[in-house]
Amino acid sequence: MVPPPLKQSCPCMKEVLNHGNMEFVELLRSEFQQKQLRKTDLNADNSTVRRVSKNYLERLGDPGDIPATTPRAAVVACSDARVPVLELFQQEPNHLFEVKLEGNIASTECLGSISYAVEHLPAIEGVVVLGHTGCGAVTAAVDQYLNPRPDTTPADSTIRSLIRSITPSVEIAASALSSNPDLLEGRFLRESLDRTRLIDTSIFVNAAAMAWKIQEFVKRLSRVIPVWYGVYDLASCRILHVDLEHRDGSLLFGLGDAPEVIDLNDVAKCLSLYLKKMNTFDAARFAGNGHNQKTEEVWEKLSGRSETSNMIQKTKSHTESPREKIQRKLQ
Ligand SMILES: [Zn+2]
Repeated sequence: MVPPPLKQSCPCMKEVLNHGNMEFVELLRSEFQQKQLRKTDLNADNSTVRRVSKNYLERLGDPGDIPATTPRAAVVACSDARVPVLELFQQEPNHLFEVKLEGNIASTECLGSISYAVEHLPAIEGVVVLGHTGCGAVTAAVDQYLNPRPDTTPADSTIRSLIRSITPSVEIAASALSSNPDLLEGRFLRESLDRTRLIDTSIFVNAAAMAWKIQEFVKRLSRVIPVWYGVYDLASCRILHVDLEHRDGSLLFGLGDAPEVIDLNDVAKCLSLYLKKMNTFDAARFAGNGHNQKTEEVWEKLSGRSETSNMIQKTKSHTESPREKIQRKLQ
C-alpha cells in the first residue's frame, strides 16, 4: 500500500491553538496591568483559570451527564505544573486530549495514547508536542550527560529510564554547540560545553525530536494527521519554534511543523545562526551545525531505541524516495 501524503494540510486547528496562545499572553498582560493599577493581588474572579472554568457545564454537561469526548487536538506536554495546557492555548474542557509525561517524551505508553486518539477520536485534527523552557527532565539529562553517575537507588534507575529517552536529543545539541566556534571555546569536550546553552538547546531539540518520532508513528496509522511542535517559554508564556522556511536563524511565535529527518540539519544551522545573533536571549535556544556523522549516529540511536519499529509495519512495496531511504535507515 502506498503511504498517504507525509503532511496533510490542516492549518485550521493549528491556527486556533496559535491564536489561543496569543490571546493567553494578552490576557496575562492585561491582568498584570490591572494589578499594577490596583496595587493589589489578582482577584480570583478575574483569573484566566476561572475564565475557562465557566465553560465546564457547557462542555461537560450538567451534573450526572456523561458527555461524548470531542477533543480537536492531542497534546503531548511535560508534567511540569507550570505548563497549563488548556489555559495556555485558551481551550475549553473536552477540546484537548492531553498526554503529560516528564520531558514530553514519546514513550511506548505515549504512542499508545496517540494511537487511541487518532484511531478512535475522529474530531482530532493534529498532534502537538510541547516542550518548555526550564524543563527539569531535560536539565537532568544534560547533567547526566555532562557528569555521568551510576544508579544508587531504585528511584535512580526509574528516573534514568526517563533520562535515557532524552539523551539522544542532548547528544544532538552537544554536537551542534561543540562544532560552532562562535559558541564554544576550544575543541569538543564535555567539560567545555556551556551547561545553560546546552539545556536551552536540548529543550528545543527534544521537542522537535519527539514530534518527529510521533510523526513517523502516526504515518502508519489508519488516519494520517499532522504533528506540530513548539516550546512554551515560561517567562513570556509564548510558544516558539524554529523558522525552517527562511532558515535565517530566527525563532517564530506559535507551533511549527514536526521536522523531517532531513530538516534537522537545517534546523541546526538555523539555530547556530540564531545563537550568534542573540547572545543574551533568555528564552530557549536551539543551535547546530550541518549534516554530519555524529548527527546521523544519534538519530540512529534514537530510532533504534524506540519501540516504534516494533509497533509499525514497514512498507517496501514501491520505489523508495530519498526520504524513505533515510527513514528506513533510521528504523
Ligand atoms: Zn519539563
